[in-house]
Amino acid sequence: MAIQNRIADFHADMTAWRHHIHENPEVAFEETQTSAFVAEKLSEFGIEVHRGLAGTGVVGVLQGEGRDTGKTIGLRADMDALPMQEENTFAHASKVAGKMHACGHDGHTTMLLGAARYLAETRNFSGTVNFIFQPAEEGAGGGKRMVEEGLFDQFPCDMVFGMHNWPELPPGKMGVRSGPVMAGADRFEITIQGRGGHAAQPHLGVDPVVVAAQLVVAAQTLVSRGLSPVECGVVSITRIHAGTAFNIIPNEVKLAGTVRALTPEIRQQLEDGLRNLVRTLPPVFGATGELVYHLGYPPTINHADPTVIAAAVAAKVAGAENVLGDMGPSMGAEDFAYMLNARPGSYVWLGQGGSALGCSLHNPRYDFNDDVLPMGASYWATLVETVLPRAA
Ligand SMILES: [Zn+2]
Ligand SMILES: [Zn+2]
Repeated sequence: MAIQNRIADFHADMTAWRHHIHENPEVAFEETQTSAFVAEKLSEFGIEVHRGLAGTGVVGVLQGEGRDTGKTIGLRADMDALPMQEENTFAHASKVAGKMHACGHDGHTTMLLGAARYLAETRNFSGTVNFIFQPAEEGAGGGKRMVEEGLFDQFPCDMVFGMHNWPELPPGKMGVRSGPVMAGADRFEITIQGRGGHAAQPHLGVDPVVVAAQLVVAAQTLVSRGLSPVECGVVSITRIHAGTAFNIIPNEVKLAGTVRALTPEIRQQLEDGLRNLVRTLPPVFGATGELVYHLGYPPTINHADPTVIAAAVAAKVAGAENVLGDMGPSMGAEDFAYMLNARPGSYVWLGQGGSALGCSLHNPRYDFNDDVLPMGASYWATLVETVLPRAA
């Protein structure tokens, strides 16, 4: 394994930073202490610090020592925790009730800081690195806001890269794939309006429960009959609320659910299909339907050329035999998608281990594996030295 020796030297420091961030979790757009910590470390390393993008976002800018080639790269980490209660009892467990770093963003922030320290010391590259620390990855779209507020205008990046720890992969392994890696995730609410009445006199009203049942079944054909069998998508109706008693047909039924897809085209097809069903199916039974559709994160789609680079760098750091190129995509979602929609780049998975013990992402006993901190930081550092080679 080609861990940068200098990075291995500060494994203990990185572990201490990671524990400090883990103990003090802050959720979406409230990362004031965390971003102050990041800014303080970056300045300590001698890196130019910019604060305020998307509120609590931080960007560090560093020039290499080689002749300036005008080339630029962005490396992104997320800083936010989750609104959930930690069940771990070790010394660095969360000190804040109801908040926890259960997705490993404490580790992501630490690895990027580790790489920043190394690169600021060595500066063995030509061009500019932008270290992007974003708020609010967990659902609130901090990455989207950074892009909208001019991230790439203020800090030009020819390419942008992301990394997430992956508990299903053992430590020492990395997952790199081209094309879609994470799904787009939308949510929706449906109201079916009928006409309630006595359960013994269904012919005098319009029973919205029966209509809702038809709609749930029909919605399942959007994927099973609407998509090619080799494509994938998800339409899940996860909530149905109606009625108050056994002998009353209610006036209306409320449903809710989620749509997931790996490409913008399938995402659009599923949304259009659902709209069409909600508009046309209830009237067949004398009822009406209304759909409120909320667009969430788009699919995260890796670009081909940057992914070839990411795979080569991962092989250099982890050993070619430890880089998996054939991992399937995840139907989870990631707001790094907005950065990849704006700039070419690639998002990789870093082996973390732990899922065998039930400690998957968002589990109340999850903890980032400190053993992999040097590997993640080495990936970042090697990526910079590869993409921005030192020019004489
Ligand atoms: Zn998460
Ligand atoms: Zn995450």
